[in-house]
Amino acid sequence: MIYLDHSATTAVDPRVVEAMLPYWTGTYGNPSSIYGLGRRAGAALEDARRRIAAILSCQPAEIVFTSCGTESDNLAMRGVLLASAAKGKRHIITAPAEHHAVLHTAADLAEQLDGDVTYVPVDRHGIVDPASIAAAIRPDTALISIMLANNEVGVIQPVAEIGAIARARGVPFHTDAVQAGGHLPLDVDALNVDLLALSAHKFYGPKGVGLLYVRRGVRLLPVQTGGGQERGRRSGTENVPYIVGMARALEIAHAARESETRRLTALRDRLIDGLTAAIPGITLTGHPAQRLPGHASFLVAGAEAEGMLIALDLAGVAASSGSACATGAPTPSHVLTAMGYGPQEAMGALRLTLGRENTEADVDYVVAKLPEIVARLRGDK
Ligand code: PLP
Repeated sequence: MIYLDHSATTAVDPRVVEAMLPYWTGTYGNPSSIYGLGRRAGAALEDARRRIAAILSCQPAEIVFTSCGTESDNLAMRGVLLASAAKGKRHIITAPAEHHAVLHTAADLAEQLDGDVTYVPVDRHGIVDPASIAAAIRPDTALISIMLANNEVGVIQPVAEIGAIARARGVPFHTDAVQAGGHLPLDVDALNVDLLALSAHKFYGPKGVGLLYVRRGVRLLPVQTGGGQERGRRSGTENVPYIVGMARALEIAHAARESETRRLTALRDRLIDGLTAAIPGITLTGHPAQRLPGHASFLVAGAEAEGMLIALDLAGVAASSGSACATGAPTPSHVLTAMGYGPQEAMGALRLTLGRENTEADVDYVVAKLPEIVARLRGDK
């Protein structure tokens, strides 16, 4: 099988599995317990926090461990809104091409807190104009949430510019960096962000563990209360093996980031050039250059996503139409419609996302196979 769905998830790196092993049956103590077994688990937890903080260029105390990217987005948005609603601030600014973890949370908060949401438009490439964020800020704006990189079309948003505007206007700024983890620099000061969400399974770590960076001084109320772990911001016994794995995975990804970016960008461009030359009526979606290194996304006129995905699967290629959550659903992608594509056009979406184990031979195989598949689906053959 050729796996071309790294934006959906990745295999756990064997070095990550190895790093996690001591914390299952050996150092299994509760990290909050005071005896040696617990203290050793607690030390591993704090060591993971320090190593992650070094990559984000933040303080270890600014990292909150969570169960996934979705939870991190929820904690950022609900936590900030719960704190600011008491002061009459209930307005959220976001964009219609965000992940549902952000969009559904924004809509839910507006309903529950009697607030409202401004959706700033994205252009044909899926990119937000920082000036439209500036224009949308109001005295009651509680939070701006704009993702670092888009999961469906791979575009990278001008987060540092948006962050500078947010800071100048005194509005907390959250970025969903789930797709950027392992691929883009995550220095929170350079990005000008106050909150940043990551999920380990996108960078060769385990599924079901994530983190939220919360800048010191940002007012955030807990969503989950209990034993007061994570400095009261997220109660619940921390998943030590998974957190240790996440730290190791992020370190490995960041150590190889520059060389892997060069390699993946070359493979991606070979794939884009190959497919656009071989298939009439195929268009790249998202920006041609301002996109994640391994991310290629297309619209194929006259071919439906489901048919392409089934045929690719039969040919030994795992691909997607966009977000893993939306696959199989007969509705057009909200990201593509926000970018101005019609619902019918959007039904021909194909996302091919490359990763560590992919080679030129994998790319060439898809470039050879897909034209036949598309021709068959269009009834040309
Ligand atoms: N945000 C983005 C941009 C994503 O791509 C995803 C996962 O696909 C998530 C959030 C949710 O992350 P998780 O699967 O860890 O809940």
